[in-house]
Amino acid sequence: MYMEIKKLEDIIKGHERFVITTHANPDGDAIGSVIGFYHLLKSYGKEGRIISHSPLPDYLRFADPETLLEWYSPEKHDEYISHADVVVCLDFNNLSRVHSMEQPVRTSLAMKICIDHHQLPEDVFAWIYSDTLASSTCELVYRVIKTMNQAAFTQQAVQALYLGLVTDTGSFRFDRTTPEVHRMAADLIERGADMMLVTRNIYETGTLGRMKAIGEMITTMQIYGDKSEIAVIHITRDMLNRYGMSPEDTEGFEQYMMMINTVKVGVKVVDLKEGFKSSLRSKGAAEVHLIAQKFGGGGHKNAAGIPKLFTPADEFIKEIVEDIKKYLEESKREEN
Ligand code: 5GP
Ligand code: MN
Repeated sequence: MYMEIKKLEDIIKGHERFVITTHANPDGDAIGSVIGFYHLLKSYGKEGRIISHSPLPDYLRFADPETLLEWYSPEKHDEYISHADVVVCLDFNNLSRVHSMEQPVRTSLAMKICIDHHQLPEDVFAWIYSDTLASSTCELVYRVIKTMNQAAFTQQAVQALYLGLVTDTGSFRFDRTTPEVHRMAADLIERGADMMLVTRNIYETGTLGRMKAIGEMITTMQIYGDKSEIAVIHITRDMLNRYGMSPEDTEGFEQYMMMINTVKVGVKVVDLKEGFKSSLRSKGAAEVHLIAQKFGGGGHKNAAGIPKLFTPADEFIKEIVEDIKKYLEESKREEN
């Protein structure tokens, strides 16, 4: 059931022990929103523990200087999860996205609530605070704190929320970057967020190997479609090894496909230890979450993901390129 901020306030006031969690392989918005929400709970004197399937990525360490995020292990956390009053799910809406934590969360008697900006939530949450037009989950947490208790805008909270605004809008470039988002960013900076800390940690810390990998990725990019509307990059295990990178280090590689004027849909495929993960991006009207859903993934209109798959990557690429071609053809026909 969907809720307004008032209901969320009642839930917070009426309970004591909270689990705060987010999706595996957290990005800036995931980390920003869990830290922001933690400070909101703290401002009400509530007990909140941030528990995550994935450890905090190194490049986001600056946003969690107190190491509030705990890396999930069954021995350390199952007991707490099963006895918590509320589990707060931020920046995802399908429990499969917390991987190893899925079972303990599902079986916990805690009330499960969701604060998120993705489409099509799983039918598992008692309450959902969602806006699929919001730029980021951090935008939602900002609204909640602003309405509920501005004492929660601590230095760390404003820094974390600003991080999520920057990363989920692609540095204020994507189309959800409304005047309101700019006003929030300005407000967060006035409240003490250090914008250069985000610039330095997010955009100026790539290794030389990563930059060289971008070079190889660009030269090996495949282009499909009569009008070169589809771009595909495949970062193989061999490339990762040669450039000393992990799959997470390829975050953001999608943008290079989208800089090409003709490209409407970009597909990134990254090999994992087993199988691979795919990221879809689009410009304009193409709704890539619809394509992702056919392959077991999801996301938003212009950015979606497909979880680990075990078909050979080349086969997957062939299949998805055909699918995208068909989709673009159909949408062209609908436009005419
Ligand atoms: P990315 O490609 O950067 O991993 O994710 C792009 C968007 O798609 C994100 O908003 C993310 O929430 C969503 N997404 C990524 N991977 C998955 C997935 O495995 N399943 C679903 N449902 N959504 C995903
Ligand atoms: Mn997000």
